[in-house]
Amino acid sequence: GGGRASADREATPEPGSTTPTATPEPTPTPALEPVPQAEAVVNVADLAVTRGDGVFESIGVVGGRLLELPRHLARLAHSAELLELPAPDLDAFEQAVHAALAAHEAAPELLVKLFHSRGVETPAHTIDGPTGWVQVLSGADHSAARREGVRVVLLDRGYRSDIAQTAPWLLQGAKTLSYALNKAALREAARRDADDVVFVSTDGVLLEGPTANVVVRHGDVFRTPRTDLGILAGTTQAAFFDTVRARGLTAEEAVLTPDDLTTADAAWLCSSGRLLAPIRSVDGAPLPVDAPFTAGVLAEAFGLPA
Ligand code: PLP
Repeated sequence: GGGRASADREATPEPGSTTPTATPEPTPTPALEPVPQAEAVVNVADLAVTRGDGVFESIGVVGGRLLELPRHLARLAHSAELLELPAPDLDAFEQAVHAALAAHEAAPELLVKLFHSRGVETPAHTIDGPTGWVQVLSGADHSAARREGVRVVLLDRGYRSDIAQTAPWLLQGAKTLSYALNKAALREAARRDADDVVFVSTDGVLLEGPTANVVVRHGDVFRTPRTDLGILAGTTQAAFFDTVRARGLTAEEAVLTPDDLTTADAAWLCSSGRLLAPIRSVDGAPLPVDAPFTAGVLAEAFGLPA
């Protein structure tokens, strides 16, 4: 199930669309009327549909509380910049998120997705945009992953770790709507009898998962791959680090290798829906899971019932 609130009135009318004699009316605040998902439509010529040419965000909602909204909105704007998209109207998105959530049946956990597309391509190949919309999805049951952990495999990403600097047109580090590769990697994990993936660069640097960041712990030091390695700056990982630092422990960004993962005292995949999933094995080799610590951070950082 899901609700949808349209935020697709970001485009301002062409100046020529008002008659020259009329006194310009102030632009009315668009009414955000959520519609049931079955009635929500996107234009078939929307470039998000035809080319995956847009960006998105997925925001966790726990007990009605939106997790890390400012970080998500900032990242949506940053992704849009990397794709040279028109800047998203963050106020409209925020209003749409609240309208969509208000229209949705309450649940312990929900997921809100924000979509910002380059817009609709006209038959004359001009772009009539941007377009945007918000979708609310029921939260999946992540309790087993959070408690018992996930099995990951290391997969080659096929890029060097300096890709964001040497080939920025590959858009690594932007949350684009082209997630077919990410989904293909997860199917490869399933073929290898695992639940998830951690990508490794061609020069042997630990990167991220297809939908998650990685954190490793050695003693009291928590580390995550640096965001200049062509990976997404994680909102969940950032909230995790806030909590770690508040406990007086060390949390830092670093250049890590697969050895840093396989020798860790504990490790996690961090993402907005599942939040924290301990990694319990890497390519079949077991890794320790710290269940009480994980449950504590899930409660403290994200308000999850203990
Ligand atoms: N890396 C990638 C490629 C992702 O798609 C995601 C989120 O889905 C993340 C990392 C984790 O980011 P966040 O914690 O903000 O959801």
